[in-house]
Amino acid sequence: MPKHIKIFDTTLRDGEQSPGCSMNIEEKIEMAKMLERLNVDIIEAGFAISSPGDFASVEAIAKVVQKPTVASLCRAVEKDIDASWDALRCAKHPRLHIVIATSPIHLKYKLGKSPNEVLAQAVRAVKYAKAKAKNVEVEFSAEDASRSDWDFLVKIFSAVIDAGAKVVNVPDTNGYAMPLEFGRLIAYLKKNIRNLGQAEISVHNHNDLGLAVATSLAAIENGATQCEATINGIGERAGNCSLEELVMALKVRQDYYGKDKRTQINTKFIYPASRLLSSITGVQVQPNKAIVGANAFAHESGIHQDGVLKHRETYEIIRPADIGRADSKLVLGKHSGRHALSVKLKELGYTDLDPNGINNVYAKFKVLADKKKEITEWDLEALVSDGLKQVQAASYSLETLRIETGNKTQPTAELSVKYQDKTLRSTQSGNGPVDAIFKAIDDIIQRGALGIHLLDYVVQAVTEGTDALGRVTVRIKKNQKTYTGNGANTDVLVASAEAYLNAVNKYLLRSE
Ligand SMILES: [Zn+2]
Repeated sequence: MPKHIKIFDTTLRDGEQSPGCSMNIEEKIEMAKMLERLNVDIIEAGFAISSPGDFASVEAIAKVVQKPTVASLCRAVEKDIDASWDALRCAKHPRLHIVIATSPIHLKYKLGKSPNEVLAQAVRAVKYAKAKAKNVEVEFSAEDASRSDWDFLVKIFSAVIDAGAKVVNVPDTNGYAMPLEFGRLIAYLKKNIRNLGQAEISVHNHNDLGLAVATSLAAIENGATQCEATINGIGERAGNCSLEELVMALKVRQDYYGKDKRTQINTKFIYPASRLLSSITGVQVQPNKAIVGANAFAHESGIHQDGVLKHRETYEIIRPADIGRADSKLVLGKHSGRHALSVKLKELGYTDLDPNGINNVYAKFKVLADKKKEITEWDLEALVSDGLKQVQAASYSLETLRIETGNKTQPTAELSVKYQDKTLRSTQSGNGPVDAIFKAIDDIIQRGALGIHLLDYVVQAVTEGTDALGRVTVRIKKNQKTYTGNGANTDVLVASAEAYLNAVNKYLLRSE
């Protein structure tokens, strides 16, 4: 029996299927490195056969990641297993994750197969996968398990364990199960699968009724030892079990769940992981989202504020620092030097910035400090994530921006951009200042000819107050690939221009 609950992260596979959350290969690698810092047990890197991009991502992550197991999804057919194995070949700990549906409705309408046919196909697939290599682990998923016949699940799980599966996964594919009901199913499987000593039970729950975390916890209470989850709970439709909520529930309520139900997650990276995902995809979590939402630690009521000041634990069950969440307190000012900045950045967990990276952030910090009196840790986080995304090679950089706008004026942007020692200029009008800026940039980069589409534009205030730093995320698309650009500035119009140029630069860099 494992001594802890394993976290199988599927942000890069199931999560990536959510609208607006697709990531390119570099972004997936960046995310995978963060998942390794979080210390997840398994990273599901993709569904190798689904597209050349997915194949390349699984392969790249398999090479980069050291400690966690790397998994690729496959249907129970040889060509899927072959593709997944080709992509996973160089992983230190490879896992083939085979899925086939088991519910009557899926068998009848989707597969057109009898239970016996499905069982035989599952066993064949698991044996085929297991034969790929000595070190390969096989996980078997019974899709729509929560709506399947319990005894059929016992039968198919027992058979695939005999065939070599190390993990049997019980998905609540449609987010249909109630927590207590799902807990009973797990207890039933645990009691009736005769060879469970050689394998473990995993769960994969969706959030269609807002219960993914609750059903996962009920499963863990009843004997599941692996839980599939995603950062920020992203995923198909209403999403998956949210990793941060599940992990913190098990941690905060260890008194209730017991020590053997701990996870090995390094919780200090929970908030950085959530922020990284939002900055890559441009999809923000709602302010009242548990654990990682903007208001998760904000005490508004006077009684609560008073209580927290007297004794934190009166109204706080988690310390923000436990999940790597910086306080919004003043940290640095105009006169702070490069050394103070680099010390502070290390404290915030940015230990892998090289001197160039620090110089880059420092330059931005000085510009910001001139405009904004108080530089908070949140501002620094924004500067770093923006600074890290600077693209050096053949890139556009904003030189000057002048805007004319007002309620009686047609908004106009006058923009000059530097590109390979040349200064390019354009002046355009639009139905708003951002529209005018983007039209001027379109004109300079000749977007029409490049065939780039603009997907989203998101503005977010990093800190409170009218002098707050605005963070802008722009996503563009060319063919099937998306590129995300970020910009942070006290002037959201400047940040908008920077974010758009940043996205274009990334596109140029990757299309070289
Ligand atoms: Zn799913």
